[in-house]
Parts: sequence; structure tokens; C-alpha cells
Amino acid sequence: TTAHFPYIKRFDDFDFDFQPELNKAEVMDLKYLRFFDDYSNILFIGMPGVGKTHLATSTGIEAATNGRSTYFITCHELCLQLKRAQLENRLETRLKHFFSYSLLIIDEVGYLPMDIEASNLLFQLISKRYEKKSTIITSNKPLNKWHEIFGDAVLANAILDRLLHHSKVITINGPSYRTKDYFIEK
Ligand code: ADP
Ligand code: MG
Repeated sequence: TTAHFPYIKRFDDFDFDFQPELNKAEVMDLKYLRFFDDYSNILFIGMPGVGKTHLATSTGIEAATNGRSTYFITCHELCLQLKRAQLENRLETRLKHFFSYSLLIIDEVGYLPMDIEASNLLFQLISKRYEKKSTIITSNKPLNKWHEIFGDAVLANAILDRLLHHSKVITINGPSYRTKDYFIEK
């Protein structure tokens, strides 16, 4: 699709029995897209393989199906695009482009460390979308370690402040679905 989802996986494809600590009702409520009402954000936090991208994508599919313009991008690619735009004196246009989506899914925040320039650009986009558009973030880093991602505590706080003001943080504590067949005793 034009939303650039990495794969098509819906809420119904998610095995909640595999993640018993996850609040199923809270996750399934995302289907109703109520978070758009107050331009809330959703943060999926957890170790690799626990289903962050899956659930972000499921929410995005639901949004797109209901006519909300939706776009999926990794944080790394987003920062590359913003940096390139800045170099080519078209940052404003690029920020407006990413601002335009009703739902922007920024995947894998914190997998790769970000320099101050990238952190600043991400901050600008998050500020622009604040209280006007909904954003979904996935991250393997708990929020109290976000200063390690941005290399700057002030920037990390400024970004988190805006993201969290109206938000739902869904922390997935549990095993990786990717490696389940290797570690689960049979
Ligand atoms: P990550 O948390 O690293 O983003 P993903 O969401 O991409 O991990 O999940 C890895 C793979 O495992 C995907 O193919 C995803 O659909 C699948 N998966 C993860 N958790 C579940 C689950 N509880 N039920 C069904 N499939 C799952
Ligand atoms: Mg992922």
C-alpha cells in the first residue's frame, strides 16, 4: 500500500496468549481509533520480537482502512530524509510532508544512536505534529533511557514531553515471537 507498511498483519493475527502480561483490552481498543479524537500518540515499548511493529502496523491498517492518511517509516530513514532535505535547503517542505499524515508511524526509535542534528530534526517534526496529528512510536528502549538515544538529556526530555502529554504507552514485557521455537521447551 501507499502507507509503506513492512507487512500486512492485523490485530486478529496477533496471538495474545503468547504475551499474557499484555493488556488485550487496551490493545484491542486501538481498533476504534479513539486516539485520533484528541490527537493522542501511542508508544509501543519492548525488547526485539515482542510485537511492537506488528501492533503499530495493525493500528495503521485500521486507520488507513478508515480513510486516515497513514505513513510508516523507520526512525533511521526518517532522519536520513530530513537531513538530506536540510542539506538541500528544502527542510520546510519535507517537514510539511511528514506533518501532513493523520497518522505517522515512526518505527525503531533508539535502535541506532542519533546524533544531535538528527535528534533536533526529529524534535522539530514531533513539535509540529504535537496536538494536531497522531504519531505512533516503537522503541526497544524504556523511556527512562531515552537520553541515551538522543545523546542529549534536554532534547530527549523535550521530545518525550510532547509525545507523552496526550498518549498511551504500551509496554510489552514478554518473550520474542521470532525466537519462540528455539527457546520454548517442547
Ligand atoms: P518487534 O517488536 O521487534 O517490532 P514484530 O512486531 O515485527 O517485532 O514481530 C516479529 C514477528 O513476529 C512479526 O512477524 C510479527 O507478526 C510476529 N509476532 C510478534 N508477536 C506476535 C504475536 N503475539 N502473535 C503473532 N505474531 C507475532
Ligand atoms: Mg520492529
